[in-house]
Amino acid sequence: MATDYYAVLGVSRDASQDQIKKAFRRLARELHPDVNPDPKTQERFKEINAAYEVLSDPQKKQVYDLGGDPMSQGGGAGGAGGFGAGFGNFSDIMDAFFGTASQRGPRSRTRRGQDAMIRLDVELHEAAFGTTKDIQVDTAVVCTTCSGEGAAPGTSAQTCDMCRGRGEVSQVTRSFLGQVMTSRPCPQCQGFGTVVPTPCPECAGDGRIRSRRTLTVKIPAGVDNGTRIQLAGEGEVGPGGGPAGDLYVEIHEVAHPVFQRRGDDLHCTVTIPMTAAALGTKCPLETLDGVRDVDIRPGTQSGQSIPLHGCGITHLRGGGRGDLVVHVEVQTPTKLDPEQEELLSRLAKLRGEERPTGQFQPGQQGLFSRLKDAFNGR
Ligand SMILES: [Zn+2]
Ligand SMILES: [Zn+2]
Repeated sequence: MATDYYAVLGVSRDASQDQIKKAFRRLARELHPDVNPDPKTQERFKEINAAYEVLSDPQKKQVYDLGGDPMSQGGGAGGAGGFGAGFGNFSDIMDAFFGTASQRGPRSRTRRGQDAMIRLDVELHEAAFGTTKDIQVDTAVVCTTCSGEGAAPGTSAQTCDMCRGRGEVSQVTRSFLGQVMTSRPCPQCQGFGTVVPTPCPECAGDGRIRSRRTLTVKIPAGVDNGTRIQLAGEGEVGPGGGPAGDLYVEIHEVAHPVFQRRGDDLHCTVTIPMTAAALGTKCPLETLDGVRDVDIRPGTQSGQSIPLHGCGITHLRGGGRGDLVVHVEVQTPTKLDPEQEELLSRLAKLRGEERPTGQFQPGQQGLFSRLKDAFNGR
């Protein structure tokens, strides 16, 4: 015997049908391909389905317990025909167990839960370097009182006596064509095939309750406004304790007082006096990596930009970081006192700039429109 089906489901060899079913449901919730698309998990999912197919079927279980090959029995043994012949379609399997397809026979009380979304404020430096955050989520979780079964403790769902568990009732009517048989969902059990005489008082039979949990979310470096982080299986648990949907954490980046983000680059403007632009200087700037000196070369023009390479946001995919681009704005002095005026006049004379003609060029954009373009991504 290649596989120990009991070990796969994590139950003992003398486990009851109820224990086997519960163990399977718990694992199926965790490993459902919709919840967890990782190929390794899907392999595991196949295993637990194979194990459950055998152990949930008294005939196959007996063959297996005696050391035989339960799959050689063919489709007739369990009525769950196609399962032995290669697990082609996962959703078929889930449909068979959880009754999501509109197939004949009773439908399952268990359905997959919905996805949920939560918004999370992230500071710029957290987006740049990544972080972990605790978030409070309010979602439906499996009711612990009834383990999602919906029946009060000590009771269980009973086979519906109206449809004898088939979930549908048939009616024979006579017509001129002869007898016509029609089926419709059983009105007593709503097609479930079972009725819950005493619903669980905790969840009123829904199999789930709302609960507030704290989750620790890993925020990777490089997230941006609107980035969604998928937390598989952390969404709403479905009716009947069905597999949980996913939780999406949507990033909302809090505006930074100095830096504006464009892609993975950051932009800011430094205003310097005309003299500093002419003579050159160093301006200390508080970057994401601490204080850096921005080197203003002698003769820097207004509107010039100085890139600090690798001081921007970490690229979300692949390493490396964007740049921090410092845009220079040169301020012309105003309110000159007599001495300053005198000095500037002398300077102008020395440079032969007393009567500049100016240089006119067509269509040159001003600094502000250029900056605006830069931020708008043009
Ligand atoms: Zn309950
Ligand atoms: Zn019924």
